Amino acid sequence: MNEYGDCSFCRGEVEEKRIEYDYRRRSHLLVINGVPAGVCRQCGEKYFKAQTLKRLDHVFHNVFDQHQEPDHVLEIPAVSF
Ligand SMILES: [Zn+2]
Repeated sequence: MNEYGDCSFCRGEVEEKRIEYDYRRRSHLLVINGVPAGVCRQCGEKYFKAQTLKRLDHVFHNVFDQHQEPDHVLEIPAVSF
């Protein structure tokens, strides 16, 4: 048992990991590495603390509104289905 509790979908055990998070909003995409998240061991559902979500918003705002320099820029291929 930890601060994330058990998975609300499958009741599986949730463990904290650092994940890569794709933050997509307002036609922008920001990849954020090392985000702490609770990940269900059984179904993989992810849970975030309120303070983590706030921090993600803050980072997104810094890069796209305050023009803070990102660590690096990825080139992402896109195709039509
Ligand atoms: Zn689960």
